[in-house]
Amino acid sequence: MRPFTYERPTSVRDAVALAQSSGEAHVTAPVQYKGGGTNLIDLMKLDVMRPTRLVDITRLEGERLHTVERSPQGLRIGALVPMAVLADMPDVRRDFPVLTDALWLAASAQLRNMARLGGNVLQRTRCPYFRDTTYRECNKREPGSGCAAKDGFNRLHAVLGTSDQCIATYAGDWGQALIALDAYVEILSPEGPRSMLFADLHRLPGDTPWIETTLAPGELITGFVVPGGPWPRSKYLKIRDRESYAFANASAAVALALEGGIARDVRIALGGLATRPWRASKAEAMLRGQSLTEELAMAAAEAEFADAVAHEHNAFKIPLGKATIVRALMELQGMDA
Ligand SMILES: Cc1cc2nc3c(=O)[nH]c(=O)nc-3n(C[C@H](O)[C@H](O)[C@H](O)COP(=O)(O)OP(=O)(O)OC[C@H]3O[C@@H](n4cnc5c(N)ncnc54)[C@H](O)[C@@H]3O)c2cc1C
Repeated sequence: MRPFTYERPTSVRDAVALAQSSGEAHVTAPVQYKGGGTNLIDLMKLDVMRPTRLVDITRLEGERLHTVERSPQGLRIGALVPMAVLADMPDVRRDFPVLTDALWLAASAQLRNMARLGGNVLQRTRCPYFRDTTYRECNKREPGSGCAAKDGFNRLHAVLGTSDQCIATYAGDWGQALIALDAYVEILSPEGPRSMLFADLHRLPGDTPWIETTLAPGELITGFVVPGGPWPRSKYLKIRDRESYAFANASAAVALALEGGIARDVRIALGGLATRPWRASKAEAMLRGQSLTEELAMAAAEAEFADAVAHEHNAFKIPLGKATIVRALMELQGMDA
């Protein structure tokens, strides 16, 4: 047992003030917000995360942290909304199915009741070499120690966005849906609020895989904004080893606007395949404004994976990823919307 202090503020300003610490916002940061705790406490029990202060944010009031609001400008979702609450909202399910599918296909009912959306997007990789401290080599956990996965068992590791330092897969599902809808993330720091494209929140591992996001230390995610919509022709397709309660081997969040068979707009984000939620920009560029056919979808998927890098056990993810893109596009094309 490692000692830590536990704070339970009710004001957002107090929470942000309590969370200020020196150093980089990486996995070993000494102060951590606690949402549902389903990832954080898990990693503390495994001795991977060793915070000295927890700031419980579940009782915070204000800043629209707990609400989901709909307006002509789009959808705003508070960061403390539980996964299960958004997943069960009938109008969100009707107008933005990619957002609710991605939640329904994630984790278990118990976890979805506990976990909040802010914590969901910041969940850590499931790379076994990251989660098991008996392995010495993990650059994400211990900067400069190496990457045991590269020559280890890497069946579930990434084929896109990898570096010499890290091939760990981003594990979550919902982030891909946010990227496909061009969502923004709202953030509060001691200097005040700011927002940015959700697609800019997660970093590629590069030479510093332990720095996973562009958040500054102590910054609090307060909400997500999905501009415009509705996107009834959108979906999340998740391929996994078993049908429930498993992370993705490959997934695609796709939003499609079709007009007379032409893909007027198409957004694709991939999960289970990359080191961060992955925008499939090359595939999108080939499809946009074109007549959507299976052949074109396959060519777009080929383009997206042209630079993919496989390791000993995960080469299957390249054809699987391509097939996931094609199937999601074809299923959306065939639906009444
Ligand atoms: C057995 C199991 C199976 C799972 N399967 C899936 C799955 O299939 N798909 C999937 O997507 N997920 C899955 N998960 C992960 C689960 O969805 C996450 O653990 C959960 O969403 C995290 O949310 P939380 O509120 O519990 O976050 P916490 O554990 O409280 O926090 C996670 C991290 O985010 C930080 N944080 C939390 N909230 C904020 C905020 N508002 N601002 C800034 N930082 C914040 C914390 O400091 C911490 O570092 C699974 C988890 C388990 C245990």
